[in-house]
Amino acid sequence: MAKIFCVANQKGGVGKTTTTVNLAAGLAKVGQRVLMVDLDPQGNATMGSGIDKRQLRLSVYDVLLESASVVEARATSDKCGYDVLGANRELAGAEVELVDVERREKRLKTALAEADAHYDFVLIDCPPSLSMLTLNGLCAAHGVIVPMQCEYFALEGLTDLVNTIKQVHANLNKDLLIIGLLRVMFDPRITLQVQVSDQLKAHFGDKVFNSVIPRNVRLAEAPSYGLPGVTFDPSARGSQAYVAFAEEMVQRIRSM
Ligand code: ADP
Ligand code: MG
Repeated sequence: MAKIFCVANQKGGVGKTTTTVNLAAGLAKVGQRVLMVDLDPQGNATMGSGIDKRQLRLSVYDVLLESASVVEARATSDKCGYDVLGANRELAGAEVELVDVERREKRLKTALAEADAHYDFVLIDCPPSLSMLTLNGLCAAHGVIVPMQCEYFALEGLTDLVNTIKQVHANLNKDLLIIGLLRVMFDPRITLQVQVSDQLKAHFGDKVFNSVIPRNVRLAEAPSYGLPGVTFDPSARGSQAYVAFAEEMVQRIRSM
């Protein structure tokens, strides 16, 4: 059975997409079968996996509107070693089109159930909002991975996300758990970041992943080559950190 994880944080630019594609590539590297689902109309995770969002024949939009199955709409990213259910601007329309349909927040969950046997992991890259798209991701998932920068306002933003997750847990998806907080773009030379990191550990204990992703320019350069950093430059510090995180995730699901 596939384990399904949302990478979510309602803030933009916190490293969701970077985490999704690099974790996907890292998991593929350690032998896991992975499907990456792009739920952001910006399509960055699609492009960052070497799939041209402008040339998608079918996308996650068709899956949400039930005009295609996951198996029909997925593409394979040969270089990266995982499958991609891509997104492009068309997906922005789904928000409105889903308003009047039944079980609108369960569309992705239903669609993924059919592809379950093909994968060990499904990773969902969420948009920077708590919208119907994110809700579809949260309803489909077993757990949420929250990337965060260790900055002063990081904890404040977390409260909204934690409350949303609690509500989804209570009303729509009793399986949903926060798997963990992932510290990203970390720079140990910055005292404030070390302090916030310590605060996170004090507050959230073992909900904070052991792996820490450093700020690393290779991770930022990789998308312009249509690759995750892990594939683009496996020896970069950031890439190695994401592979270590993939290994940590494999360990975590054994105890789930
Ligand atoms: P989100 O999906 O949350 O909006 P992104 O993953 O797109 O965030 O990251 C925002 C920006 O930060 C991007 O330009 C990305 O390349 C860069 N970035 C993300 N993680 C790192 C990192 N560990 N080191 C350096 N740059 C990073
Ligand atoms: Mg993103």
